Amino acid sequence: MFHLDTVNAVNRETEVNPSNNVNIFSQRQQSQYHEQKLVEQFCRATHLIKIIEGAAEAFVRNYNKSRRSEDALAPIILRLDFTYTDLVTHARDLLELAIEEPLQFAEAIKYCAYGLVRAHIKAVANEPPALKTPTIDIAQLHAQWRILGLPVQRNLQFDPSQHLYRLGLALVHGILSAFSATETLVLQSIWYCGSGCMRNAIQTTSTDAPSCSNCSRPMTEYSKLRVTENYRFIAILPKACVQTPRVLNQTFRPILVRLRDFTYNCALKLGACYLITGYFSSSPACFESCTLDEA
Ligand SMILES: [Zn+2]
Repeated sequence: MFHLDTVNAVNRETEVNPSNNVNIFSQRQQSQYHEQKLVEQFCRATHLIKIIEGAAEAFVRNYNKSRRSEDALAPIILRLDFTYTDLVTHARDLLELAIEEPLQFAEAIKYCAYGLVRAHIKAVANEPPALKTPTIDIAQLHAQWRILGLPVQRNLQFDPSQHLYRLGLALVHGILSAFSATETLVLQSIWYCGSGCMRNAIQTTSTDAPSCSNCSRPMTEYSKLRVTENYRFIAILPKACVQTPRVLNQTFRPILVRLRDFTYNCALKLGACYLITGYFSSSPACFESCTLDEA
């Protein structure tokens, strides 16, 4: 209800003054810039800047070794851990953004990392030995972030059995009751034009052949260069359901969680208790894990 009212209020204002559209757009741009700056400050205050610069250097070295045009589109995968205590120490505003707007937080990380990687590639180009430094596309940058050590507190819990439907970053605490087989997510694929155009293209959201930007013919994939990641769905039965087994006439439904491989290091054991930090996502309708730990 709150959201609907807000949207209607904005629409009414735009009817009166169409220039508000422009204002809202420019305010959003300013806030995105501010959010990216917060991420950058945090990265520079912690070891994350080393991870980002290291990945940029590895990318340039790899490209210079092979000099193949398709390697200019090679993936740059960043594993970035944001520790709760570091966020409290260095960046309370960023912590608030991560907790209230995890998707905006993820966007800010991606764009900030893209800027830092590009800047570092340019810096490498200015130092001897002279290396070839390709221009990178944001589609080849994959920022896999986690938030570690978020303290367990009731106002952050997501638990429909307790009528806790928190939006934003939330915690699911419970027993592993089932898990699916491993499924595969394509992070990116690289394509070439077989008609002699010497064009390459990168795809992230689909595995369908793109059209060549020069001759419009369907392109062919470098199948060996496809970059994938595994994930699985798990079912978590909220801990409170198990602790109060005498409730009658009520079935407790497990919470469906999508678990990407990089978000956990521990073994998955049926019946064991886990704490998951993540957020509810509407497509697919499930809780998206950012971190899973035994608890
Ligand atoms: Zn072509």
